[in-house]
Amino acid sequence: MSPARILSGKTVSDHIYDTLSPKIKALKEKNVVPGLAVIIVGDDPASKVYVRSKARKFSKLELHSETFELPADAQEDELFKLIDQLNNNNKFHGILIQLPLPEHLDSIRVIERIDPAKDVDGIHPVNTGKLAMGIPRFVPCTPKGIMRIFNYYNINLAEKNVVVVGRSNLVGRPISILASLKNPTGNATVTLCHSQTPDIPYFALQADIIIAAIGVPNFIDESFIKPGVVLIDVGINRVKDNSAKGYQLVGDIDFNRVENLASFITPVPGGVGPMTIAMLVENTVEAAESFI
Ligand code: NAP
Repeated sequence: MSPARILSGKTVSDHIYDTLSPKIKALKEKNVVPGLAVIIVGDDPASKVYVRSKARKFSKLELHSETFELPADAQEDELFKLIDQLNNNNKFHGILIQLPLPEHLDSIRVIERIDPAKDVDGIHPVNTGKLAMGIPRFVPCTPKGIMRIFNYYNINLAEKNVVVVGRSNLVGRPISILASLKNPTGNATVTLCHSQTPDIPYFALQADIIIAAIGVPNFIDESFIKPGVVLIDVGINRVKDNSAKGYQLVGDIDFNRVENLASFITPVPGGVGPMTIAMLVENTVEAAESFI
């Protein structure tokens, strides 16, 4: 088979920014600059990289973003105080808590403290519930971005078998819901696999589309896939190497071993990652629009 066609998150996200540009301009004409507050607790290096790249994109688009850094031993009451201030600050239309939080903090309780109208990451239980009922408000950025990739490349989910590997609240579970919703972009038959699934290849081999969101480098190889499958790789894993940086980024899918079997594949980097940031911008713009 010929190599899989690349699903480029860079191309799709550039298209999204083009569509957002007139909306941002219209908001600015009303003296509204979409604003995002990002809270990061602790010093996790990967989290810091993600936060910086989000801030860079907001600055490039001349949107407002501020990062609030708390020490790794910050207590819940300190975090709640900050969230309450941001909930009441009109400069910020969106609030994002960079996950994971240090273990002593209960992330569900922290997320519940965010005003659902500012939950641009789409993980407040109110927004999760709306998504599950098929009346989405804020949809988590990564799953939303994956649906946009399908849309841009005319990959129709109806009547397809979709296997999602990974069931996190931020990625695996919401993409499984989006793909199975009774609407024109959904209608897939979805199987959700996770660490307790005894034989993932058994399910994966029946898939027309596999979405891997696990966090295990190169987990999916040729033994998991049937020819012609569409592969979406959410994973971003640091694997040590001899480069100046000391590591390279790889996905959850072993690209080299599957690229001649799949019909479409997202690369890492340059696939799902740019879409996550584009959807964060889009959700923040939508939040700002709803404040007018
Ligand atoms: P997470 O919260 O750690 O969840 C991982 C999921 O994978 C869990 O459901 C876990 O199962 C499952 N899992 C772990 N090991 C497994 C195994 N050996 N076999 C089967 N299932 C396994 O991670 P996440 O936040 O969803 O992120 C997943 C990956 O995507 C990470 O590499 C992360 O860095 C990346 N990510 C990328 C983007 C992007 O923009 N590209 C955005 C978010 C995340 P259990 O539930 O049973 O524990």
